[in-house]
Amino acid sequence: MSVMPRPSVLSVEPYVGGESKVPGVNRVIKLSSNEGAFGPPPGAIQAIAEAAKEAHRYPDGGATALREAIGARFGLDPARIVCGNGSDEILAMLILAYGGEGTELVMSAHGFMMYDLTGRWAGCRVIKVPEKNLTADVDGLLAAVGPRTRLMFLANPNNPTGSILPQSEMERLRRNLREDVLLVLDSAYAEYVTRPDYDAGAKLVDAGGGNTVMTRTFSKIYGLGGMRLGWCYAPPAIVDVLGRVRGPFNVNSAAMVAGIAALSEPGWVEKSVAHNTEWRGKVTDALTAAGLKVWPSEGNFVLVDFGDAARAKAADAHLRSRGLIVRAMGGYGLAQTLRVTIGTAEECTLVVEALTEFARGR
Ligand SMILES: *Cc1c(COP(=O)(O)O)cnc(C)c1O
Repeated sequence: MSVMPRPSVLSVEPYVGGESKVPGVNRVIKLSSNEGAFGPPPGAIQAIAEAAKEAHRYPDGGATALREAIGARFGLDPARIVCGNGSDEILAMLILAYGGEGTELVMSAHGFMMYDLTGRWAGCRVIKVPEKNLTADVDGLLAAVGPRTRLMFLANPNNPTGSILPQSEMERLRRNLREDVLLVLDSAYAEYVTRPDYDAGAKLVDAGGGNTVMTRTFSKIYGLGGMRLGWCYAPPAIVDVLGRVRGPFNVNSAAMVAGIAALSEPGWVEKSVAHNTEWRGKVTDALTAAGLKVWPSEGNFVLVDFGDAARAKAADAHLRSRGLIVRAMGGYGLAQTLRVTIGTAEECTLVVEALTEFARGR
């Protein structure tokens, strides 16, 4: 006899992150994990170095200063904010606290993979709802809800498709969703959205049902993926639950000061958004002109569609031979596509050149 984990654990494949190396290639350009184009904000680098001197001290388990800084920046009550070791940790805490054996978790077919992996770990039955035009289908999501459904996850904009639902659709979803189903709005890419009617989720949390949570991250526009820092805005009863289940020191000291510094870095978000909008447009236009299909995106990445899996694989190999690492999407049921992060101007130009060459060559 040997020790065995709960059966649901073995149903989960280990998460494979974006790669960062190509054998035999010296200089690689990593455009596989949607990390911000400009690296960490200078003020955050400074803050992390300073924090090293106090590394023997336990962090503030309540993340008070960080929650106050987030609250001030986004106009939210700090008492309704919970911080996590990446927003992934918050997603996991919500799933383990509200889902588990005998429950169902509903998500969109090409939604973020961690909902599926963590949902299955927890023992939930994960229901993936077909999309329309690579966009979440509100009617389909609502129709998938059954008596055992406890959780629904929706990233808006979504990774990896880049698609977005208008605020009216988000409101319709919440309005028609049973009150005892927790709706988790994952707004990891909120800062990149330039649509005037967009709300990252706080409005629906504030609408008062007590059953909606917004999650956010410092890993994308704030360039702090390596620090592992995310947060959520939640109704008081859910804040209470997260306070019970989270580790007492789940966010480390360096991450907290880096996050505070990143929020106050002058012009950081504005510069990043302007760059992203410009280069996402340029990459889209250039690849379209080269005869490739590029799905519209509201995030800091584009999904390039090669029509079939073999051609996408060949394109990936072509990019790799030039040291360009993007993300293959087989794990998302989109093997005919590659997801390309919007990097610096130079990085975008290299991707466009390589893919144009690829498209012309066939
Ligand atoms: C990157 C990403 C996250 C994870 O963010 P962390 O804060 O780094 O854990 C969550 N949701 C989506 C949709 C993402 O793309």
